[in-house]
Amino acid sequence: MRWTQSLIPTLKEVPSEAELVSHRLMIRAGLIRKLTAGAYTYLPLGYRILRKAEQIVREEMDRAGALELHMPVLQPQELWEESGRMANFGPDLMIFKDRHGKTNILGPTHEEVVTDVVRNFISSYKQLPVTLYQIQTKFRDEIRPRFGVLRSREFLMKDAYSFDCDVAGLEKSYQKQYDAYCRIFSRCGLRYVVVEAESGPIGGSASSEFMVPCDAGEDELVQCPQCGYAANMEKATAQPLPAPAEKPPLADLKTVATPDQRTIDEVTAFLGLSADRMIKTLVYVDGAGKPFVVCVRGDHDVNEMKLAHVVGAGAQLADERTILEVTGAPVGFAGPVGLKQKVPVYLDQAVSVMVNAASGANQADAHVTGVNPGRDFPLDRVHDLRFVVPGDLCPRCSAAIAICRGIEIGHVFKLGTKYSQAMGATYQDEAGASHTMIMGCYGIGVNRIVASAVEILADEQGLVWPMTLAPYHVLLVPLRVDGEEMAAAEKLYRELQAAGVEVLLDDRDARAGVKFNDADLIGVPLRVTIGGRGLKEGSLEVRDRASGETVKVPVADVAAHLTAEVRSRLAALNKD
Ligand SMILES: [Zn+2]
Repeated sequence: MRWTQSLIPTLKEVPSEAELVSHRLMIRAGLIRKLTAGAYTYLPLGYRILRKAEQIVREEMDRAGALELHMPVLQPQELWEESGRMANFGPDLMIFKDRHGKTNILGPTHEEVVTDVVRNFISSYKQLPVTLYQIQTKFRDEIRPRFGVLRSREFLMKDAYSFDCDVAGLEKSYQKQYDAYCRIFSRCGLRYVVVEAESGPIGGSASSEFMVPCDAGEDELVQCPQCGYAANMEKATAQPLPAPAEKPPLADLKTVATPDQRTIDEVTAFLGLSADRMIKTLVYVDGAGKPFVVCVRGDHDVNEMKLAHVVGAGAQLADERTILEVTGAPVGFAGPVGLKQKVPVYLDQAVSVMVNAASGANQADAHVTGVNPGRDFPLDRVHDLRFVVPGDLCPRCSAAIAICRGIEIGHVFKLGTKYSQAMGATYQDEAGASHTMIMGCYGIGVNRIVASAVEILADEQGLVWPMTLAPYHVLLVPLRVDGEEMAAAEKLYRELQAAGVEVLLDDRDARAGVKFNDADLIGVPLRVTIGGRGLKEGSLEVRDRASGETVKVPVADVAAHLTAEVRSRLAALNKD
């Protein structure tokens, strides 16, 4: 491709709308442009990169035995009513009425559609297992689309769905996808971590997330530097906290006046205590509307995902009236001792080992000190109910855990029978008995592969692509666009194309500085400078974009040198 015939609208200035490195650079390098909130055009250079990521995903899905199909974005509401999932997605669903008054959904995911396909065509154990996948546009009405293509309302996903006769089959299908994901992200040159995850709105029992650790990530992940334990924030657990080695004498309960001191910060400042000496007490109502109380240490936060495992789904914080009824006090003065109503009190494990703590007194403008779990209230409902914090110890090996940020690029779920049961996807076994199929589902955010590669590889000058994702393998920069420089560039251009190397020729009549800056900005892995003294002496300068290192190569050898370099880099990333 010749630069003058392409469409690469690079920008010198930093776009004001962009917060993240990837967003800024993808705009500046002419890869993407925003059309409207959360919707981006991939310009030709950007689209080449996206298609390369897509192709790697496709090759590995095919290699894993998955079958590609293409399902409509447009989905009838009835399917979502069959699965019972309308409410789960709520306002994130893009919904519209067509001219006949029928309600349609622009699919955020395709479990319903694929289950409908399978129930129509598969009825026998002989047709199973099967894994179907597509690479397709999804819609999600994000409340706040941002970070460029990392959190957009329209995005490209690879979604795969496995159907098996039994759990052992699901395990195999899941493992095939898991292994394919590892290969995909390695081929894309991404450093990634696999973390244990909760299942979120898709439901199901076991799942893992593939995360690229980087500061720009929206998610937090927990890692053990010692044993490799990794989990996302919702799922992460820690070693139970020990009781104090030397237990001080137990103080008596004492009510102290704390006028208008409601928050943990206010009360700790007022009482001169650190937050880890406070018991934070929260009133909830369960799915059936029955109130209960949860206590965590003042410096900890309730993990509602963990809470749901204990009390069931649908619990939410109580309103002011319920808090008054349960505690006998206005908001801000709740505590586990002396609740007005006898309701279940769930304690986080860290609370159970506290000594001489402070909590609300269940009366207005008062707290109590000398609170001792076990003595002052029962320890019959102790669970892990909190998020881990820095300083916690690994649940497996007791080393200190590390918490960092990451971008989620893939997710694998063991779904079970949630959709197949609701929608009647069954098969007959050898004896003719009917069973519900067991499903798994597997997603990759293709845009996120591209954006996370930018986040972790780019430098101050611009983008840096691994050879597998690069829009072109080689960029030729003749210093003049006439005379012998251009003749040498044209010759090399033809030779490289003949060798199967993807080459971009910067044939713009522009200053060398402009061309070099743009070269660094768009991040083609190998740049060849054609001209100056080198050419007179019979050599060309080949520069590696990632390291900035240059080598001089005799003119006659340049095509062979570049071809070998491109092939070896591709082979290194694509290796088994
Ligand atoms: Zn560990």
